[in-house]
Amino acid sequence: SNFAALGLAEPILRAVADTGYTQPTPIQAQAIPQVLQGGDLLAAAQTGTGKTAGFTLPLLHRLMDAPSKQKGRPRALVLTPTRELAAQVEESVREYGKYLSLKSMVMFGGVGINPQINALKKPVDILVATPGRLLDHAGQKTVDLSGVEILVLDEADRMLDMGFIHDIKKVLALLPAQRQNLLFSATFSDDIKKLADKLLNQPKLVEV
Ligand code: AMP
Repeated sequence: SNFAALGLAEPILRAVADTGYTQPTPIQAQAIPQVLQGGDLLAAAQTGTGKTAGFTLPLLHRLMDAPSKQKGRPRALVLTPTRELAAQVEESVREYGKYLSLKSMVMFGGVGINPQINALKKPVDILVATPGRLLDHAGQKTVDLSGVEILVLDEADRMLDMGFIHDIKKVLALLPAQRQNLLFSATFSDDIKKLADKLLNQPKLVEV
């Protein structure tokens, strides 16, 4: 398929084929090769552009060869502004990763913390989280963020609008310095540009 030309592995291509997608969307065509190469990305993309698969597919590819064996120590972290978006993203991770042996988990506030604590007693590769609850876990040391190789900020403009900048900075301080960063935002305010400057290292800019 045209997804194969982007460099994605066969088990991921099979999961994409199962969904019925035949053509990468413009954001996918631009973002996927860059993420596969390990570079940082700054993507201006609205919901409905296929942005979720744009970061999820190459993320799965980069992690697939070495599933985590350590409890509660994710290798990829996706931050979202809302629980609904977190749940949707994690569902996409499961769908596109169904032929891989990677483990994903979603965590957000407003629900009991104990089931999340229990889930973190097992290995997790991809953690999708809202910032506040993630910091609760980090404070209790039920999650260990020192192994995060890839960070995704999804709908970063909404996170800033919702007042998450301080939480985001606290999370960043818990991550290893050496990592890949992907920032998705529908709009580019000065605050987003400031965050991008701080976060991203020679990013490829993608606008759709
Ligand atoms: P998103 O922008 O990530 O919220 O995705 C919007 C919708 O587009 C979702 O329902 C996806 O399932 C769908 N979608 C993502 N990639 C493709 C594609 N390459 N071809 C057709 N539909 C897609």
